[in-house]
Amino acid sequence: MTFKGKINLNNIFLPERDKELIVIAGPCSAETETQVLETAREIKSIGKVDIYRAGIWKPRTNPGTFEGVGKEGLKWLRKVKDETGLLTAVEVATPQHVEEIFKCESCVDIVWIGARTSSNPFSVQEIANSLKGTDIPVMIKNPINPEVKLWAGAIERILKSGIENVAAVHRGFYPFEKSNLRNIPKWELVFELKSMFPEIPVINDPSHIAGKRSLIKEISQKALNLNFDGLMIETHISPDTALSDAKQQITPEELEKLLDELTYPKAQSDNKEFIDLLEQFRERIDAIDFQMLELMSGRMKIIEQIGKYKKENNVTIFQLKRWLDIMLTREDFGKKMGLDKKFVIKLLQLVHRESVRKQSE
Ligand code: PEP
Ligand code: MN
Repeated sequence: MTFKGKINLNNIFLPERDKELIVIAGPCSAETETQVLETAREIKSIGKVDIYRAGIWKPRTNPGTFEGVGKEGLKWLRKVKDETGLLTAVEVATPQHVEEIFKCESCVDIVWIGARTSSNPFSVQEIANSLKGTDIPVMIKNPINPEVKLWAGAIERILKSGIENVAAVHRGFYPFEKSNLRNIPKWELVFELKSMFPEIPVINDPSHIAGKRSLIKEISQKALNLNFDGLMIETHISPDTALSDAKQQITPEELEKLLDELTYPKAQSDNKEFIDLLEQFRERIDAIDFQMLELMSGRMKIIEQIGKYKKENNVTIFQLKRWLDIMLTREDFGKKMGLDKKFVIKLLQLVHRESVRKQSE
């Protein structure tokens, strides 16, 4: 993976673009003209950023907090474009926002739909309708709740409005459990989305996943290792004084260091030795997967017999003591085999759920 030298707005998110990393940076919110321009100048000087992001209308959890500078900020973005040549991106949440963007000529190149908006199909549809007949590229952030179909539905609504140049942004999901992250990545949902829309690039937003500066690099690296198509990193000239998301924003200087320190694995290698060995590893994994399924099928056949047997003898399907015993012995064995405890528990819960379902049949 390499950095794009020059990016072409017309195909920035289309499949025919060269497979290179898309880097998006800029403040959570546009606050003042000076803040917007100074941040943009420094970001431009890094030489690795393609798109400048800045929120103009901010979806805040609590009223009375800073809700964005509004359309005034659009003109600052025109200056960013004129001065730096960076492409500009803004969040839109209503058709009125879309209208303002088109009224301000040469101000905004790309729009994105935020996580709160993509959670609501009515809002997404209204935005999709207002985009009809235009060819502005659109990025769609994942909805707050971990429901891949909702995310896919939002993407589909935009595609159906005739917009072709579309990207998904992965910003993590609301943490229903206690977590040191602001939003839980749930990487597996991205793989699911990718299998539904193989041609649509997915950009990782480590800032909103992390919620704090110290974790941004680690999450970015993970995204690169997983073959994401880009990164969106909140960057502010003076993060500590930022009017929104202060804790997670980094300076342009820190962004430069971070981009330098990351490693950029390639999606493929043409080294024959590597390909051969990888093939051998994969064959072994395939064999193990099939063995696992065969064993599981054997287990389920016994379960069926047990189900019948319990029924004939008028005994309940769920047996607490047996279940606790299974968990304990397997956890113990898993530990000895070097398996992660949480993984073993999840796997057994899944198997047990299926066993109960089978017996209930
Ligand atoms: C943002 O990008 O600043 C933002 C509000 O993000 P999200 O919609 O992911 O919360
Ligand atoms: Mn933000």
